[in-house]
Amino acid sequence: MKYAELVGVYNKLENTSKRLEKAYHLSEFLKKVDSAELDKVMLLVQGKVFPSWDERKIGVAARILIKAIQTSTGINAEKTWRETGDIGKAAEKLTACKEQATLFSQELSVDKVFDNLQKLATLEGTGTVDKKIKLISELLTSASPIEARYIIRTTIEELRVGLGEGTIRDAIVWAYFGEQAKINYSVEENKLKVENRGEYMKYVDAVQEAYDVVNDFSIIAKIVKQKGFEGLSEIKMKPGIPIKVMLYPKAKGIEDAYTIVGKPAALEYKYDGFRMQIHKKNKTIKIFTRRLEDVTAQFPDVCEYVSEKIEGESFIIDSEAVGYDRFSKKYIAFQHISQRIKRKYDIEEMAKRYPVELNVFDVIYYNGENLIKKPFSERRKILVSMIKEPEYLKLKPAEQVMTENTADAESFYQKSLDAGNEGIMVKNLQGIYKPGARVGYGVKVKPTMETVDAVITGAEWGEGKRSAWLASFIVAVRNTETDEFVEIGRVGTGIKEKSEEGVSFGQLTEMLKPIIIKEEGRIVQIKPEIVIELDYEEIQKSPTYSSGYALRFPRLVNLREERSPEEITTLEDIEILYESQRGRG
Ligand code: ATP
Repeated sequence: MKYAELVGVYNKLENTSKRLEKAYHLSEFLKKVDSAELDKVMLLVQGKVFPSWDERKIGVAARILIKAIQTSTGINAEKTWRETGDIGKAAEKLTACKEQATLFSQELSVDKVFDNLQKLATLEGTGTVDKKIKLISELLTSASPIEARYIIRTTIEELRVGLGEGTIRDAIVWAYFGEQAKINYSVEENKLKVENRGEYMKYVDAVQEAYDVVNDFSIIAKIVKQKGFEGLSEIKMKPGIPIKVMLYPKAKGIEDAYTIVGKPAALEYKYDGFRMQIHKKNKTIKIFTRRLEDVTAQFPDVCEYVSEKIEGESFIIDSEAVGYDRFSKKYIAFQHISQRIKRKYDIEEMAKRYPVELNVFDVIYYNGENLIKKPFSERRKILVSMIKEPEYLKLKPAEQVMTENTADAESFYQKSLDAGNEGIMVKNLQGIYKPGARVGYGVKVKPTMETVDAVITGAEWGEGKRSAWLASFIVAVRNTETDEFVEIGRVGTGIKEKSEEGVSFGQLTEMLKPIIIKEEGRIVQIKPEIVIELDYEEIQKSPTYSSGYALRFPRLVNLREERSPEEITTLEDIEILYESQRGRG
């Protein structure tokens, strides 16, 4: 197939913002592509030459592109790039200048473009830069101006034609099952008519399900073209190929969580780390992020724990890697360990400095069996049985309790927050594993992200080993009408024992001691000066505090040293937040 035909579709896709019209153009084009070229074409329409989960990347620096354009056109692209703000358009413009001077150019094929771009990713060692320039300029020399635009954009993996996964899925359905489902799309009216809706939805769901499992439209389009609908059932989950992770909607609180998932439910710690989908096959371990990027090389420690502690020839597990401080052994926020994800060197050193504990919360595949349709309670049993000798700070099943009692659930929630976690997950015991979907088989409950800036107006001295510190703090917001501070809650969570871990009790005590106004037993009154940022699960009406409201499960996020008490959250803000959360979902 000529590359020009594909470029024609790119151009149509880029020229419309209508989703249905995009699906239409792509589907009409797919009807014309034969099986042999379908896999390459499917990747190229997404601006890729490798499926998204493949660790190989084209990886070409801007200076290489500029050199390649210069080699093929004889013109330095830097100025035009700056003017157009788009290096693809710059290449197009300069190729047009050159074109008038060239008499002959060879027509580019999809194969040629695909092969040259794939080769870019495999080059290593000396002379790589020159070889890359050669591969790109070879394509540009034969390219028409508009072809040059898309070649360059594919090279930088930024096609800019606005094609989402849902549109590609629909285009596959329209192209290969459009007749069976009796669909009709009119470009003029931008209207889709479906006569056989039941049949249509069956195809859409089947293609989506297959995509969730293989994450590669090339495989799907090819199998559907060759074998029709039945072909889709051949698409099987395989360890080594990542599947879309299941997502969880947010519940407003524990009661709401129970309403969504049913009773009894499994409650788990919601660890504040990063998600790892871990595969094992033939003794090889692979780790994928939530976005299905391969990060195996960055986590040799995790690979080691997994092969040491998890039994099974082959499996796919879902887990959260949470960082902990190597000295105090306390969990630390995600930000500290996030730097490990992209790290390419000193990996062993990073693993020592930022160790992680793996908390396994689901199993999707085990020893040849796909478990996604099994109820969660069964998957959890399998998961627990797979982990021999769970070990604190290395690898263990996620902390879980099963309860239908709200008070028990609340105390588990508080325990989770106190341990430094983000909240809890509440999971339906019968729920299947639905890749990619945010369905109600599990929900998250965590303090809301709309934080409140409050001022400390009182505190209480701690007991036992905390007796030298102020350990619990009364916080207030500002009533602008009366110009007073009105209390809204009491916070003791989120504050650390050691100063290296974040805002500590010692540090707060030092700051507050000089501004104590009154002391009665262990209770002290404090001059409103120190502002802190809090998150919380929800705002409730409450007679306990002078604002008439209470923050439920408040947690200190940060000190707001740059804020004065005049600038903090006002009572009006709280009223708005309260109302907006009532209207939520
Ligand atoms: P979402 O992942 O739902 O799109 P988000 O990015 O805001 O939203 P979170 O609020 O962190 O994510 O909630 C879901 C994430 O919580 C999961 O993707 C997973 O990484 C993490 N997590 C931690 N502990 C668990 C657990 N026990 N079960 C499931 N997920 C957990």
